Amino acid sequence: MVCAEQPGSALAGASLKSHVQARAIPCIMVTFPVMSETSYAGQCFCGAVELVVTGEALGAGYCHCESCRSWSGGPVNAFTLWKPGAVKFTKGEEHVATYNKTEKSYRKWCSLCGGHLLTAHPQWDLVDVFAATIPSFPFTPGVHVNYEMTVLPMKDGLPKLKDFPTELGGTGEAVPE
Ligand SMILES: [Zn+2]
Ligand SMILES: [Zn+2]
Repeated sequence: MVCAEQPGSALAGASLKSHVQARAIPCIMVTFPVMSETSYAGQCFCGAVELVVTGEALGAGYCHCESCRSWSGGPVNAFTLWKPGAVKFTKGEEHVATYNKTEKSYRKWCSLCGGHLLTAHPQWDLVDVFAATIPSFPFTPGVHVNYEMTVLPMKDGLPKLKDFPTELGGTGEAVPE
């Protein structure tokens, strides 16, 4: 394997001849496997905290649960789901505060402005980056979850789950709009 000649390598092209020790550097340190994937930038309300999500969201939709309502102050929460490695803070991570009422959800916000950022779900190995946090991401909702708790019925024709999909430990049961 000649990693220096792979596309996406930092050593590709002109820099190779000036780096005589390049062959000693493990390939993993000089390649960028996510280079071709699209990234979307987001930030908190004041802008002190910035983050980037990369690649494809694993799911997106609306959560109608009481916890989202209580914490967000809004009637529903628009979510996008990512593997933890797809979400990176790029600025102001020292201002990110975390609260977890349960082991299921670690809610993160900017301690300077109070603006909400995301919720980590370690038991699912997923991170919910709120759609409002990443306005440039083309939010395409596919499902409503915890719809049995709704205070804002949304007749948009999308599936309405009573709680969660079975893959996430829910019943997967659909309820009427
Ligand atoms: Zn902020
Ligand atoms: Zn919720």
